[in-house]
Amino acid sequence: MGDDSASTVDIVLIGGGIMSATMATMIQLMRPDWSIAMFERAESVATESSNAWNNAGTGHAGLCELNYTPLQKNGSVSTAKALTVNTQFQESLRYWAELVQRGSLVQPDRFIRSIPHVSYVSGETDVAFLRKRYDALAHKAPFRTMVFSDDSDQLVQWAPLMFEGRGGSTPIAMTRSVAGTDVNFGELTAQLVQSAMNGGMHLFTRHQVTGLSRRGDDWRVKVVNRDGGGKKFFDARFVFVGAGGTALHLLQASGIDEAKGYGGFPVSGQFLHCTDPELIARHAAKVYGQPQLNAPPMSMPHLDSRVIDGQRVLLFGPFAGVEPRFLKAGSWTDLFRSIKPNNLRTYLDVAHDEFGLTKYLIGQVLLKQGAKMDVLRDFIPSAQDSEWVLHNAGMRVQTLKPGANRHGKLEFGTEIVSSADGTIAGLLGASPGASTAVSIVAHILERSFPAEMARGVFDDIFPLRTAAATDYERTLLAGEDIIRDVLGLEGYGSNI
Ligand SMILES: Cc1cc2nc3c(=O)[nH]c(=O)nc-3n(C[C@H](O)[C@H](O)[C@H](O)COP(=O)(O)OP(=O)(O)OC[C@H]3O[C@@H](n4cnc5c(N)ncnc54)[C@H](O)[C@@H]3O)c2cc1C
Repeated sequence: MGDDSASTVDIVLIGGGIMSATMATMIQLMRPDWSIAMFERAESVATESSNAWNNAGTGHAGLCELNYTPLQKNGSVSTAKALTVNTQFQESLRYWAELVQRGSLVQPDRFIRSIPHVSYVSGETDVAFLRKRYDALAHKAPFRTMVFSDDSDQLVQWAPLMFEGRGGSTPIAMTRSVAGTDVNFGELTAQLVQSAMNGGMHLFTRHQVTGLSRRGDDWRVKVVNRDGGGKKFFDARFVFVGAGGTALHLLQASGIDEAKGYGGFPVSGQFLHCTDPELIARHAAKVYGQPQLNAPPMSMPHLDSRVIDGQRVLLFGPFAGVEPRFLKAGSWTDLFRSIKPNNLRTYLDVAHDEFGLTKYLIGQVLLKQGAKMDVLRDFIPSAQDSEWVLHNAGMRVQTLKPGANRHGKLEFGTEIVSSADGTIAGLLGASPGASTAVSIVAHILERSFPAEMARGVFDDIFPLRTAAATDYERTLLAGEDIIRDVLGLEGYGSNI
């Protein structure tokens, strides 16, 4: 219980992005009687990384992302990461379908649609890799819709824009899967938050959490009203730090041992945005290429056909940049403020070891728009400068963490940091991010609320987790039928 100056709730969610929105609705399914308060510093939810214009909207399922299937030293292609991400995305789809069936999410075509996912490579070495990747994946049930081709007639049909004006004799190959999706995570976030508010959650926009401290078994959360400056205190038994880039600051402020040693390195993203409606209409796929030398895995170049708020768009990128801010609307002191005596060594180790990445990022910062267009011309040789403008997307704060012997290393996944007693949890990093929000949140709930989760409220939604290997395919295909029927995704279903 809090004292007179604090309100008491069961759960505090910091941030109004896809992660907190997912957490809110899952907690309500698990314990509808628990009170929840969500605090968002901006004027509305989903203005940062979860906003449709700030991310690439790819439903990451391992269908086209070449970095999920690295070539191993023995010459084989590892499929483990692609399979894991695929299962996690299936869980997201099943969860969203469940909420549509319950009437909590409405009009799924406003936040998700089918779009072919294509991997594109050129040059003999990469073509041989793609064929090997296809051979390793295509016989597995989740990847059965994948088709490989190095036949130019077929490739032109799949991506006509990419072959206009293309000369030369460099071999090119693609794989294409109709099970791909384009997701408007901003719209999805807004619908999830609305659903949680219908279930009784209180949303406080323009309210910034500025402090966290222990009060007995509870956390005392200090919140500042950004319109007028008044401060309030809330006591909660569980706090979720879904503050995107600035989660690191808040986890540090909590003082939990588990956050010590962590650092963050912000990488901004930019896309080229096509302004010609005729060109936009002629490309209908998400096409992922090979990352450049030393590029972080999330910087694979891709050409994305998307629909955002009913409007068809064509984006290419991302181009990386370096900024000290942890949010798009963050402060220039964010990076500086994250450096503490307990993580200084982590920063220094990474600065020393990741020279290649530093070089890549400096190269990206120095790239003028003309040079960015040259990168695009590897995908669309006929692209004209006048048809594309630069667009600033969201910030990703890459996690720096103490590894073996406390030596600092760079981490590209999404990292869950939670206290030993499970009363506070937060997320660092950004990839594969929004696509895997449901499984990430389920994982946190299992750690923090084992007794409630043991009641099996999500068992029907997450059968893939427990399906024995022999049962995996049958369970997956049954789930795909539900996904096709409820979310209207024609690329899914046991008949494909
Ligand atoms: C360029 C780019 C491309 C991406 N592409 C994809 C993709 O194709 N597919 C995919 O699945 N993922 C993608 N991601 C990752 C994905 O966008 C993120 O993983 C996801 O949106 C993170 O959601 P979040 O809720 O943690 O953070 P956010 O959406 O950033 O939300 C955090 C919220 O917390 C608020 N906040 C911060 N501090 C406070 C505070 N102290 N008090 C109150 N509120 C606070 C912020 O204002 C913000 O609204 C991409 C990311 C980027 C940057």
